[in-house]
Amino acid sequence: MAGIYVHIPFCRSKCRYCDFASFPDKIGLAESYMACVYREMAMRAPELKDYKFDTLYIGGGTPSVIDESYIAMLVAAAKKHYNLAKDAEITIEVNPGTVSASKIDLYKKAGINRFSVGLQCANDKILADLGRVHTLNQFITCAKLLKGQNFSVDVMIGLKGQTLEDISQSIEVAAMYGACHISMYALTPEDGTPIYTDYLNGELPDADEVAEQYAFGVKKLKELGFERYEVSNFCKKGRESRHNLNYWRRGEYAGFGVSASGHINNVRYTNTFDLDEYFKCIISNHFAVIDRAEITPPEQRDEYVMLAMRTARGVDTREYESLFGVPFAREYEAAIQKNREFLDISADRVRIKDEYLFVQNTIIIDFLET
Ligand code: SF4
Repeated sequence: MAGIYVHIPFCRSKCRYCDFASFPDKIGLAESYMACVYREMAMRAPELKDYKFDTLYIGGGTPSVIDESYIAMLVAAAKKHYNLAKDAEITIEVNPGTVSASKIDLYKKAGINRFSVGLQCANDKILADLGRVHTLNQFITCAKLLKGQNFSVDVMIGLKGQTLEDISQSIEVAAMYGACHISMYALTPEDGTPIYTDYLNGELPDADEVAEQYAFGVKKLKELGFERYEVSNFCKKGRESRHNLNYWRRGEYAGFGVSASGHINNVRYTNTFDLDEYFKCIISNHFAVIDRAEITPPEQRDEYVMLAMRTARGVDTREYESLFGVPFAREYEAAIQKNREFLDISADRVRIKDEYLFVQNTIIIDFLET
């Protein structure tokens, strides 16, 4: 089964750390943009007619900032043009302060059955410093509206002035109001974003402090019944994000909208990040792809290992051999030997030990250099 990702590039304002394709000043173009997305979905449908999809993920940006009727039409377009499973996981990202009871009702009627809410931090001062448009109270209101729903909450670490107590409260408040999935990400100060200046000024926590925050967060999440299934993702039993699991298993997915990427039949492609260019392409019945690369067999193996090593289950060595026709232990013998102390190795799995997952990049790199 494959996934569908749709990017909605509008937000109320730009957060100080954001380098995603989001255009707060272009929200007036939402109607035309969505018309282009529906058209792009129709254009790619013949190529994907034999695919079965079991996830649809509406991300951004802030999808909940545009009129809910566009989202309902988007889900309808996905169902019309693609073979979307009846029990498909359909997720929308929402920001506190941009949802209402009627909006959530319409989402549910449209078939959305999973919500991803951006809290980031339960401290209003830090939220304001990040440029987030919402407060903790607005998050609570949003979470109450989602009571009983399958919803996830995003929490960030590595923030300026953030204490362990802030992290504890962020996780507690998410859990208390019913989240069954929590994503805990470390801030990455991207060059070109306003927050990069804070980084250059040494105002952000250093790597050791972030590692301490992460370990603290993992412990807290565990105490509250959230199991880690990927380095940044934790959930109650059975509440893993099906859509993201497909990414980490190197599954196929189609991407629609500005900056969206796809992975179909060992080809990865990315759409333009330029909104005007996107409009021009789609209106003239051309795809808006700016980058397209066929993934060679050695690259496929590396991708598989890199993605699987991020997860708690690690590499399924039998699956690896059945997919690629070579034993994993033989192919990556040098990297396994070098990192033996960091790995759990069993008959059919090689995984990074829990305590080293946060520094998985330094371990994975040895596997990619094999
Ligand atoms: S809400 Fe998300 S996409 Fe929008 S500006 Fe903030 S970080 Fe970027």
